[in-house]
Amino acid sequence: MIELNDATKSYAGGVHALRGVDLDVDEGELLAIVGPSGSGKSTLLNLIGTLDRPTSGTVKVAGFDVNALSDSRLSALRARHIGFVFQHFHLATGRTAVDNVADGLLYAGVPFKERRARARAALERVRLGHRLDHRPSELSGGEKQRVAIARALIGDPSLLLADEPTGALDTASGDIVMELIRELNETGTTVCVITHDNDIAASLPRHVRFKDGSVVSDSRTTEVRP
Ligand code: ADP
Repeated sequence: MIELNDATKSYAGGVHALRGVDLDVDEGELLAIVGPSGSGKSTLLNLIGTLDRPTSGTVKVAGFDVNALSDSRLSALRARHIGFVFQHFHLATGRTAVDNVADGLLYAGVPFKERRARARAALERVRLGHRLDHRPSELSGGEKQRVAIARALIGDPSLLLADEPTGALDTASGDIVMELIRELNETGTTVCVITHDNDIAASLPRHVRFKDGSVVSDSRTTEVRP
């Protein structure tokens, strides 16, 4: 699903955010990307999410070489294969839960009525069928993140990228969000979770640890659940 070969990312001013990263992620994996602030985790997620291209080396996602695709082909790849969840939800404030989720299909050529029907189903899947017409300001943090997960899964992505998905939530809400992420993985979606939370990382089957733009460890556990 993901293949990085000697991928680097440098920014102006001599910042080497990623230094020659090799990473292979198989279809159906669930992994934690961990490491201190500034170690390159978000840069990595931007490359895997095809939001950015490597400075050198190769990044392949779902079999496509990111460097070989035009911007419009990359957007199409993203729309078809990748769902994103962010720490601060990124919901449209003036729009209801169902509209926010339906917007996840805006660029997929799905007619309005079907978008809304699928949005309702996705919200039911994250157990928010009773909050369809609520706006973000009327939802708790945990509920907002569940709306964001519904928006990410509505396009049926093969890859879900979550950047600190529980970082803004209390423990109980974070547990529910992680449970949903696990459920998604169990139905076949490949999932990468960036996290600072050691307990969350320890509960996932694979941990890739970054330091100073490099992978310093890559380990698997057989005991998946805490
Ligand atoms: P993490 O997600 O682990 O906190 P990042 O990937 O955000 O780390 O950042 C890695 C390094 O790259 C940091 O030194 C950061 O300051 C730098 N960096 C990230 N994005 C940019 C950018 N757009 N321009 C310049 N430097 C950046």
